[in-house]
Amino acid sequence: MSQDVVTMEKVVALCKRRGFIFPSSEIYGGLGSTYDYGHYGVLLKSNVKAEWWRAMISDRDDIVAIDSAILQHPKVWEASGHLAGFTDPMVDCKTCGKRFRADHLGELACPPKPSKHPGEGPECELTGARDFNLMFETHVGPVADTASIAYLRPETAQGIFINFKNVLQFARKKPPFGIAQVGKSFRNEITPGNFIFRTREFEQMEMEFFVPPAEAATWYEYWQKARYQWYTELGLRPDHLMLRPHEADELSHYSSATSDIEYLFPIGWSELEGIANRGDFDLKAHTEHSGEKLEYFDQGSGERFVPHVIEPAAGADRATLAFLVDAYDEEEIEGDTRTVLRLHPRLAPVKVAVLPLVRKDGQPEVAREIVAALRGRMTTEYDEGGSIGKRYRRQDEIGTPYGVTVDHQTIEDRTVTVRDRDSLAQERVGIDDLTELLTARLHAPWVTPKLADSAS
Ligand code: ATP
Repeated sequence: MSQDVVTMEKVVALCKRRGFIFPSSEIYGGLGSTYDYGHYGVLLKSNVKAEWWRAMISDRDDIVAIDSAILQHPKVWEASGHLAGFTDPMVDCKTCGKRFRADHLGELACPPKPSKHPGEGPECELTGARDFNLMFETHVGPVADTASIAYLRPETAQGIFINFKNVLQFARKKPPFGIAQVGKSFRNEITPGNFIFRTREFEQMEMEFFVPPAEAATWYEYWQKARYQWYTELGLRPDHLMLRPHEADELSHYSSATSDIEYLFPIGWSELEGIANRGDFDLKAHTEHSGEKLEYFDQGSGERFVPHVIEPAAGADRATLAFLVDAYDEEEIEGDTRTVLRLHPRLAPVKVAVLPLVRKDGQPEVAREIVAALRGRMTTEYDEGGSIGKRYRRQDEIGTPYGVTVDHQTIEDRTVTVRDRDSLAQERVGIDDLTELLTARLHAPWVTPKLADSAS
């Protein structure tokens, strides 16, 4: 397995230093485990989501998109089982007054004695576990009474099920077909933490794939492989990624089989995405609670059935964290440590940095001309401030795969150097060939150099 220098602290520090992600409401002292995304973080996460949409929509023709409301009828959560059962077991410590997720005690630190787990310190006095519902409650309209209670959605999936009939009518699809959604979900996690791994507000990328019941097992296999491959194609090292089938006692009430794709984060192997065979649980539950028949009827054959559902459910923030962690690298160069994000070029927030060597002699003008030619084709950044070494270092830390440097020779022969983030190779290229060369490189298959390192 390739050796990692990465720690969660280093990723958090880099994200703050380079404006990817920082604690929210910082000027007011922060609000535990909520984060704001800065420029490069927004670009990175939107590239992650764009790659997901590409895999779900652009690369195939059996999935359609939806964007449902965050606030839904409270009956949705009654039917889905969330009101009664979307709970985590919680314990209180009578000594320090803190609360902990009872099934995560072994991963948590006792606040007064961080070297111990909660319950293990000499003063700890934990209560018995009780169920805590993770849904955020709010009120719709000006009167806060029980009739106005609504919930911030704890998952995007239910917004898909309740629109099954609409989609069947308008999308002209028949099973097997899928409905995909990306959007915010909210869970009042008892113990959020580990940066953006577990927060109370996060983005999900979920797809419900509706299939004839007899095909459910086949499609379940299919989606496990397809989703695993999505992560490796975007550069995650296969030796840091595994598919872990749930044990019978881990399965949710709705699921006959679930597998998690787990990534080896610095905190250990943890869930990145779940793929579940949900059977007909959801469509039947909403049929029962709403009175609307949610089934497929084939007018030609007269066939009628309630489709079964295979659900790949991923987290956009958690995937972003995995890509950041996997990309983080340090190397010694001439006595200096270079920190570099070896992100897949398709995920990199900026694809090309254009850097005039000096801020005179016509170099900035030529550099701006190059930026104008590349703009619209790839995210390009112009940077003329500070020494060239510092500017390269900055681009390495945000994961920019290519640096184009304009120098004295450029003014004479209209050539520039193209620097490769990973190999540090520099080559001389004519300005007129640059767009084509960079476009081809950005679309070529890419394997992280970390894998080559571990093989050698
Ligand atoms: P966990 O066991 O980590 O609490 P889960 O099994 O409850 O997660 P799902 O309901 O399957 O998670 O949600 C699908 C995906 O949404 C997860 O794999 C994860 O990527 C993401 N996700 C869930 N909860 C959070 C959270 N609190 N913060 C960030 N991402 C989350």
